[in-house]
Amino acid sequence: MPEQLSETHHFALNWQLQLSEAFTTIEDLCEYLELSLNELAISQAASKQFAMRVPLSFAASMQKGNPDDPLLRQVLPIRDELVDYTNFSLDPVGDIQAAVQPGVLHKYQGRVLLINTGSCAINCRYCFRRNFPYNDLQLSKQQESGAIEYITSDPTITEIILSGGDPLLLSDARLASLIRQIEAIGHIKRIRIHSRLPIVLPARVTDELVKILANCSKQMILVVHSNHANEINGRVITACNLLKNSGITLFNQSVLLKGVNDNAAILCDLSEKLLAVGIIPYYLHLLDKATGTGHFEVSEIEAKILVEQVQNTLPGYLVPKLVKEQAGAASKQYLL
Ligand code: SF4
Repeated sequence: MPEQLSETHHFALNWQLQLSEAFTTIEDLCEYLELSLNELAISQAASKQFAMRVPLSFAASMQKGNPDDPLLRQVLPIRDELVDYTNFSLDPVGDIQAAVQPGVLHKYQGRVLLINTGSCAINCRYCFRRNFPYNDLQLSKQQESGAIEYITSDPTITEIILSGGDPLLLSDARLASLIRQIEAIGHIKRIRIHSRLPIVLPARVTDELVKILANCSKQMILVVHSNHANEINGRVITACNLLKNSGITLFNQSVLLKGVNDNAAILCDLSEKLLAVGIIPYYLHLLDKATGTGHFEVSEIEAKILVEQVQNTLPGYLVPKLVKEQAGAASKQYLL
């Protein structure tokens, strides 16, 4: 069957089926991208440590035949992941220390983060939680009532962050039920959802999902995660329009990644494309030093120079805040 036809068929499927057809082997992804395995520093051992997963919607935005494609670099398991870099660790941002009960991280004043699932639609090789012990520390359905009790008992908590993994991988029913329980807590003002799904699996943004988010009585904020303008394809634009038109506030956070977006022109292009679809560029994170990710690191000095170049090019509202996270600190650190 011509490839065009099979992609058309794939993108007509619902999001769960699209997810089930994601690339999970290096061979399949490389065949699709018309790349020879010999021209890449691939590592099956790295993919055993942290499984590869790439939805077709994301892979379809890669340039075929380009081993240096910035989207491919984010997802392809390579030998560099096995290099032991100093100062890189399994829990670089102190998540485990901040866990007050399974699935509940209370790190910053006024905000509590719920780890709703350990699954993602895409496995980003630079992920700061790639070594997170999700089996012990994700919030199961049975544990939700304990989390809700914890939040209810502390009136200083005003914002709940749904994170993971990717919280939009929860079923509509479970997400709606969780949101209803949070809505019933009087001192909560906002629910913030951190998700890469509108970018990597935009089919997840269904009318039903948008209704659940938009009908919430608390302010609803969705923070998406995009690192490169090439990620924002036509399907992503459609999904973002649905979200934006329903009144949901959209922000983006990116990670500064060597070989992906460590270039002022690329960062400017990303900011412009984000705003064009109604997403405010919010954070540009320095890499969190998770074991297996050292080859993505951009130094703090280089990062500051890059963001100054972006500042000299774009209006302030298009310049993301350059931040880094330090385990145990009371907030993220602003670097400029
Ligand atoms: S989507 Fe987020 S949590 Fe999931 S692998 Fe990528 S960076 Fe990590």
